[in-house]
Amino acid sequence: MALMTGKEYRESLRNRRPLNVYMAGEKLENPYDHPIIAASINSIALTYELAEEGSDYRDDLTEISSLTGNRINRFCHIHRSPEELYKKVGMQRLLGQKCGTCFQRCVGMDAFNATFSTTYEMDEKYGTSYHERFKKYMLEVEEGDLVVDGCMTDPKGDRSKRPHQCPDPDVYVHVVERRPDGIVISGAKTHQTGCINSHHALIMPTVTMTEEDKDFAVTCIVESDDPGITYIYGRQSCDTRLMEDPDGDNMDAGSPNFGGQEALMVFDNVFVPTERVFMDGEWDFSGMLVERFAGYHRSSYACKTGVGDVAIGAAQLIAEYNGAARASHIKDKIVEMNHLNETIWSSSVACCWLGKETKSGNYLIDLLLANVCKQNVTRFPYEIARLLQDIAGGLMVTAPHAKDLENPETAELVKKFLGGAEGVDTKDRLKLLRLIENLTMGRAAVGYLTESMHGAGSPQAQRIMIARQADVQRKKEYAKALANIKS
Ligand code: SF4
Ligand code: FE
Repeated sequence: MALMTGKEYRESLRNRRPLNVYMAGEKLENPYDHPIIAASINSIALTYELAEEGSDYRDDLTEISSLTGNRINRFCHIHRSPEELYKKVGMQRLLGQKCGTCFQRCVGMDAFNATFSTTYEMDEKYGTSYHERFKKYMLEVEEGDLVVDGCMTDPKGDRSKRPHQCPDPDVYVHVVERRPDGIVISGAKTHQTGCINSHHALIMPTVTMTEEDKDFAVTCIVESDDPGITYIYGRQSCDTRLMEDPDGDNMDAGSPNFGGQEALMVFDNVFVPTERVFMDGEWDFSGMLVERFAGYHRSSYACKTGVGDVAIGAAQLIAEYNGAARASHIKDKIVEMNHLNETIWSSSVACCWLGKETKSGNYLIDLLLANVCKQNVTRFPYEIARLLQDIAGGLMVTAPHAKDLENPETAELVKKFLGGAEGVDTKDRLKLLRLIENLTMGRAAVGYLTESMHGAGSPQAQRIMIARQADVQRKKEYAKALANIKS
């Protein structure tokens, strides 16, 4: 079975050992039916549903495996050309349009591709067999159509200390024991996107390590239902609105069917068999892995252009509902939103088409442009959100509760006084305002704004990479040549 249906994916989660998931002070007996978690599962399930036979998007969501020749989900794919990198970001924009939030599955895909090429180069230097081992693991991923959480961010504690200097070494995932048949790891990973909705987690180092940090230079696979893992669910703004009316239309949730997911993941002496270890102590390759993973994931932030498309659509629609769509300043603001969104898209597309083959044979995006793309993402969605709020008007934060539309004492008053343009249903107008609220300051804003800022590395991380990749020395020579400076 190389492709699961959405239904099979949902079942595959339930068939696991019980996970240790804590939320709001309680251990969840049944995490999958919790309205907050269910919404996040729906987002990942889309990556299966749109790949199903008969789906209009099957070609966008699937690819022919370079390892087996079978049709597989693109999220399990090792990219072999600039065109495939481009198809990847196209898929991400599409999914952003469909769920309006983070669909979580990209982190693993980006981690696969970074690990694929890094293990090849490690083996070249050290004569190890990590790459063949990793390829074998990828067969399992492809054939099982697995979701794998790419786990990079360690809690870090005191940022002024290197991993080996930390008084509590658990603030970085590290090897605590080496056995003949594998390793044992402990530590934690923070804000792990989709970790509970994943089958496996691919652990990677979070920073470039030094020789003294050897035990922290570890890359390996753990099963998400390992009893040694504890998950503490991350809150999102207005998340409990999902619990208010889960069986109704839940209008106050804004976009009730979809959500993202982040959690703190703690590893307490988790055993990893040798065949699932892809770096153990090769500290001098940690930087390469981090840089390549970050590069892929920064290009993946094309997902935000899909959410941007939703934001632009919402802006146009609310302008029409308000009777303001013909005002020239509204039209101009919508042009501006499109310009910003497509500027992100252009850097994302460009870094794919300028991608180069690595020694291992897969393709790596252009690192300079991938970092420019992500730097754009740290800024433009905020401006798009500002313009969306500007066009929407203040009612998006002063509108009454959904129940006030049901209460016979208030329903007619709400309808009469909160209506918009002639012929527009007041409830539709309020629903759209809740969507805008969600996108710009609710659960979806976690994905559209804060994740845009900090996901795949905070803005300064991209600026460091831009400084490194921009080759300013060469640019100095251009200036000197034109000015006829000989020295
Ligand atoms: Fe994918 Fe975007 Fe979510 Fe990252 S933020 S996992 S790229 S949807
Ligand atoms: Fe992210």
